[in-house]
Amino acid sequence: MTTSQAATRTAGLRDRAEAVIPGGVSSNVRLLAPRVFFERGAGPRLWDVEGNDYVDYLLGQGPAFLGHAHPQVTEAVARAVRSGMVYGAQHALEVEAAERFIAAVRWPDLVRFGVSGTESVQGALRLARAATGRRRLLRFAGHYHGWIDNVLMDFGAEGGRPGTLGQPADALADWLVAPFNDTDALAEVFSAHGEEIAAVIVEPMMCNQGAIVAEPDFLEALRALTTAHGTVLIFDEVITGFRLALGGAAEHYGVTPDLAVYGKALAGGWPVSALAGREELMGRFGTGEVNHSGTFNASVMAAAAVVATLEVLTEDPPYERVAEHGTRLRAGLAGLGDKHQVPLRIQGLPAAFHVSFGGPRSVGGSAPVRDLSGLRELDLVRYAEFSRLLAEHGVWVAGRGIWYVSAAHGDAELSDALERVDAALTADTGTA
Ligand code: PMP
Repeated sequence: MTTSQAATRTAGLRDRAEAVIPGGVSSNVRLLAPRVFFERGAGPRLWDVEGNDYVDYLLGQGPAFLGHAHPQVTEAVARAVRSGMVYGAQHALEVEAAERFIAAVRWPDLVRFGVSGTESVQGALRLARAATGRRRLLRFAGHYHGWIDNVLMDFGAEGGRPGTLGQPADALADWLVAPFNDTDALAEVFSAHGEEIAAVIVEPMMCNQGAIVAEPDFLEALRALTTAHGTVLIFDEVITGFRLALGGAAEHYGVTPDLAVYGKALAGGWPVSALAGREELMGRFGTGEVNHSGTFNASVMAAAAVVATLEVLTEDPPYERVAEHGTRLRAGLAGLGDKHQVPLRIQGLPAAFHVSFGGPRSVGGSAPVRDLSGLRELDLVRYAEFSRLLAEHGVWVAGRGIWYVSAAHGDAELSDALERVDAALTADTGTA
């Protein structure tokens, strides 16, 4: 295929996509991403229809934590597909998936599988309201918990506006919003409203905007305040689950929630979410008091993918490898920032970190941003543009700055990625 034939192939697919899919994409998150059409993924790399390879640090927005097409997961799903797919009834693999899940995460008593993080969040909020008999909910500015009317939020100047046209403003009426990592503000919200709040939901590491770890004591304070006020504490572990540790953020921070929601890394790329928690709460699904349903919940493929993924994660835990790769990658990126004299900022954890450019008002250097207001001081627009340049140079990352490291990334990817970032920075700055 010549270069021009290859480019024509992408352009042709783009035209066809735009003719039949709104915006040419199936999730609005992708509207701003480079319009690349991929053909194949294997381990830590992707290949587009023009034959270009990319070192992938987006991992499908997180799920490909084992790398793309991990053989054990792929074979397990293929076997499952051949055995009938969806029974609308119980099966042995579903039990094994749940047993392995509980054994891996350790603190929950019970788990229900679903398909998307968004819907499992709904289950968590419903359970919390059912258990407490309260309506109000508390969350943190900049955190994301799905695209449904009652949770999608735009954190504009006042915080807490609907995130899209078509979303009724009163759908968000029950929410209180507090800044992340601010224990005093949290205590104030609880002293004013503690007895009305059914649940607090938190990304224990704020990853949808930035990669902001919870500061020491913040999650402990949250745990203590929710316990004192009879409020259900929900960890949204859709990103952190099985990534920061086998037991997710709860294990990483040593703080145990009442309920938690998982997705992404849980099933090696297959669409599976989970809602897990204490028996006293989760048991209400079992008595039928609280509804949680879904045609595809714990399908044969989903259960097979969870079993295979958890087998890999427990038998060959990748966490040290991932941390080592992430640490070296971060150091390499920082070195390139220095070389090209650009204010590259990196923060988060080795498995999931955020790269941005310092803005005119931002604290320069290494002082980490601790909440949404700090993130707004950064030049996120320049980074988003730079991420498009990275794609042109064969590094696939999210425009919003998060980089995910998988268990499959090795030395070859590290050196390829750094070489390519170097070339992209040269193109960006005109430095050599
Ligand atoms: N919670 C968090 C923290 C997420 O990052 C996401 C997805 N990015 C969701 C919930 C929603 O999950 P899904 O896209 O699977 O519906």
